[in-house]
Amino acid sequence: MKLFGVLGDPVSHSLSPVMHNAAFKALGMDCAYHAFRVRPENLKDAIHGAYALGFGGLNLTIPLKEKALEIVKPSVAAKEIGAVNTVDFKDGIVGYNTDGIGAKKALAESGIEIDGKNVLLLGAGGAARALAFQLARDGASVNIANRTVERAQALASEVNKVGRAKALGLENLRSLIKECDILINSTAVGMFPEVSGTIVSSDMMHSDLVVFDIVYNPVETGLLREARKAGARTIDGVKMLVHQGAEAFRIWTGKIPPVDVMEKAVREKLK
Ligand code: NAP
Repeated sequence: MKLFGVLGDPVSHSLSPVMHNAAFKALGMDCAYHAFRVRPENLKDAIHGAYALGFGGLNLTIPLKEKALEIVKPSVAAKEIGAVNTVDFKDGIVGYNTDGIGAKKALAESGIEIDGKNVLLLGAGGAARALAFQLARDGASVNIANRTVERAQALASEVNKVGRAKALGLENLRSLIKECDILINSTAVGMFPEVSGTIVSSDMMHSDLVVFDIVYNPVETGLLREARKAGARTIDGVKMLVHQGAEAFRIWTGKIPPVDVMEKAVREKLK
């Protein structure tokens, strides 16, 4: 049996075990995926230990994603984003970040093209970094709006090296949204337990807007409810979660991931 795992602290809330075990079962693979609580000071030993034990691969979650950069050989995207969420052992210890591709596939699944689009990205944290680089590399014009505007400015100046990005605060978004095609929330606003929070309300939206909330707990966020009121198209955070996991699965196994099975398992667990 081949073993896989997610390392984090805390990690018991992770949906990755249910998602990947469902995929292994669907493909009849003799593999198992577990969650392991690992403190940051033990991360190097844990990754090298998994490598020595012949693990098929790892995921990393809070608070280990940034620290892993010093331990693994990072891919171009992981280095640029500054965080590793997937480790593969086939060719040494290589770190990837699949969040950007996960977001791109979530949009693509809904038939949304990125190239040439005007995007408002709320947030400048870890997930926003992955999204901003992916969107800019794929030809979008990215407006990064963050509560701490200095953080948005720092990210925009990095993203400008690979594409088009602008920084702003969270005030005065109304007129910008009028010109936007896609609005993405990559802040923690709306996340359990403060589920009523939303940065943008329905009166600021329009019916041609695509609203993508990467928060997945709850699945139906306040922002998505506001978007529906405005007649906008919506994409929930489960789609990105599943596609970033599917990309990790593809990296480790070389197989086409059973995305529908993975999504069903995650949605069942979140009910
Ligand atoms: P993070 O690095 O801690 O960044 C948090 C972001 O949220 C920052 O931009 C922060 O702004 C902003 N924020 C927090 N509280 C706020 C408030 N009250 N008002 C306005 N802005 C606020 O977190 P992260 O890792 O990027 O994760 C963000 C969210 O994305 C979480 O809900 C996470 O679960 C979700 N996520 C989903 C997926 C997926 O696959 N669907 C993947 C990754 C993350 P400041 O800079 O001003 O503090």
